[in-house]
Amino acid sequence: MIHAERLSKMRAVVTGGATGIGEAIARLYAQHGAKVLTVDLPDSGVVQKFERVSGIDGEVCDVSTDEAPEQMIALAEEKLGGVDILVNNAGISDLRTVEQSTDAQWDHVMANNLRPVFRLSRAFLPMIRKSPAGRIINLGSIFSQFGSAGLSAYAASKHAIAGLTRSMAAEVGRDGITVNFIQPGAIMTDMTRESFRRNPEVRDAWIRKSAAGRLGEPLDVARVALFLASDDAAFVSGTGVIVDGGAVNSL
Ligand code: NAD
Repeated sequence: MIHAERLSKMRAVVTGGATGIGEAIARLYAQHGAKVLTVDLPDSGVVQKFERVSGIDGEVCDVSTDEAPEQMIALAEEKLGGVDILVNNAGISDLRTVEQSTDAQWDHVMANNLRPVFRLSRAFLPMIRKSPAGRIINLGSIFSQFGSAGLSAYAASKHAIAGLTRSMAAEVGRDGITVNFIQPGAIMTDMTRESFRRNPEVRDAWIRKSAAGRLGEPLDVARVALFLASDDAAFVSGTGVIVDGGAVNSL
């Protein structure tokens, strides 16, 4: 039950909202009074999913394409009349070592996980600057600060999000905009489900390490995205928030 709307009159853009963490963020923001535009890939079902959901507009846009920023600015103007909060959530996983990765696979990870965060942030900043409380929230990962065998390109893309976020925060802070990133641990979504099914020992290791004794749910991450978007986080910027139930900080 919502006791008080924490994002009333706010307008939010969430990338990759058809499922998983992005969907949870879009729904929680809308429940808290925000008007939300979320975009996802053509075959994601994003339009149908939100057709009858009040406060959320689902549209098709592949954020890795050259024309994505222009398309999304036009959509945001048409559907929301401006933007206060940009959540760069869309991303892909990649389970390969350096030696297994081709140039094309490396480029594909960067084109989906990193380049859109830079290009969409740059495109939306003039709009967000007009907001009384502008926010950019990027989805990093626990692999924004740790490495793991078989996650080379993914971890490199998420480390880069940390550097990009911290630098952008310094660049736009005087305009009243905060820029932060979220660092989920193991969250049960389409991204992890199949690999946890094939490698139950990895899933079990995360559960064992977690102080909470469980995997994370998309809502666990969405709640932090709500905090970062709200007035409560007005003086929080340039930082990453780990959402892993205490897993990486225990031996
Ligand atoms: P997910 O695969 O369940 O959802 C990602 C969504 O992004 C999908 O709907 C997908 O279609 C969309 N998407 C991917 N590429 C896109 C593109 N080019 N254009 C538009 N939409 C695109 O994944 P998730 O677990 O919800 O992950 C969301 C974010 O959180 C990602 O950035 C991911 O790296 C990060 N993250 C997830 C975990 C986890 O354990 N699930 C952990 C750390 C970080």
